[in-house]
Amino acid sequence: MTRLRTAIPGPRSLELSARRKGAVAAGVGSTLPVFIESADDGVLFDVDGNQLIDLGSGIAVTNVGNPAPAVAEAVHAQIDRFSHTCFMITPYEGYLEVCEHLNELTPGDHEKRSVLFNSGAEAVENAVKIARHTTGRQAVVVFDHGYHGRTNLTMALTAKNMPYKHRFGPFAPEVYRVPMSYPFHDGLDGVEAAARAIAAIEKQVGADNVAAVVIEPIQGEGGFIVPAKGFLPSVASWCRANGALFIADEIQTGFCRTGDWFASDHEGVVPDLITTAKGIAGGLPLAAVTGRAEILDAVHTGGLGGTYGGNPVACAAALGAIRTMRDRDLNTAARRIEEIVVPRLRKVAERTDVIGDIRGRGAMLAIEFTERTPDVAAKVAKACHEQGVVVLTCGTYGNVIRLLPPLVIPDEVLAEGLDILEGAIP
Ligand SMILES: *Cc1c(COP(=O)(O)O)cnc(C)c1O
Repeated sequence: MTRLRTAIPGPRSLELSARRKGAVAAGVGSTLPVFIESADDGVLFDVDGNQLIDLGSGIAVTNVGNPAPAVAEAVHAQIDRFSHTCFMITPYEGYLEVCEHLNELTPGDHEKRSVLFNSGAEAVENAVKIARHTTGRQAVVVFDHGYHGRTNLTMALTAKNMPYKHRFGPFAPEVYRVPMSYPFHDGLDGVEAAARAIAAIEKQVGADNVAAVVIEPIQGEGGFIVPAKGFLPSVASWCRANGALFIADEIQTGFCRTGDWFASDHEGVVPDLITTAKGIAGGLPLAAVTGRAEILDAVHTGGLGGTYGGNPVACAAALGAIRTMRDRDLNTAARRIEEIVVPRLRKVAERTDVIGDIRGRGAMLAIEFTERTPDVAAKVAKACHEQGVVVLTCGTYGNVIRLLPPLVIPDEVLAEGLDILEGAIP
């Protein structure tokens, strides 16, 4: 391999890992303890002179490239003008420009408003606050395999115990979990799966108590689970009929990742509220809640906000990122990645019985292994890592390899990464 100069991790990374032990809390893990010095679209350069092929985009964040020129320019220009005022004290135009883009790009052509935060979890927490405020109800419904963050409320919304919740309780109350549509495991069509979820809500929670149903249109950490067609529209229409808000958590699926601006677009679902983060700002911390104007405007002034929410540098980065998505037509790029990757993975699935399912949309693609243990996925990921390819695992059973390449990854880099991934699958 010409891209690698040393074993992975190399000596300098090992040195830094040893130093890290004395400085960084052990509770923070790293998939690949290789320290990065710089990046170029689809490639990470480490401190030992190795080049890693990036099929993870820092968990679906650097969709527009790393660094993306339009993001870097916007950040430089903004940081030279001012770094912070606090929008709640003295506002600035970048914040409202980001909100205007969000209002336009998110599903539905109704009147919308947005509010900006720092992280995905913070956006989800605020979406729930807003839903409770508007409906005067308390119960929040979430799904098996769901992931919504690591703060107290979002831990409660998240399904998986290890590593997210173990010994971190007690968790926020009035959160109810119902079955997700998981076609590979349950064999149900979307309408049947929705009926199962709705029956659980009506029996265990009571329709009149539900403030919101919070769902990832394609589940991320839970295993890149694409619900059967018809599931999302059925759940959304139940919400509408019962006065509950339908909140789409598009933090991982948003911003061209699935070949549309948002994954809800695939089935024409129009959420009442939508949460975004990750891909929104080319790597700078920014998150948002966008939704129906009458819902967001109903909250009392001062009820929403935060010191850093919608920081001007992060807003400038988002404007650069959104411009890049438009100029480079990254929805088409994501669909093209699907066209390249899926046939290759299907071919591998034909020669081996370790693969159970190939699924996903656009540049959010996954292999679920047959065994419901992390063994095979961990081995494949490790072999990729040793050969300089960054792949991530996920799934309730840890048996899924997920691919989230930057949408601007050059074809030959993607092909090289896939060669190594395919070679790593037994
Ligand atoms: C990553 C993620 C979150 C949490 O975002 P943070 O920025 O890590 O707080 C919430 N929901 C989904 C679907 C995610 O993928």
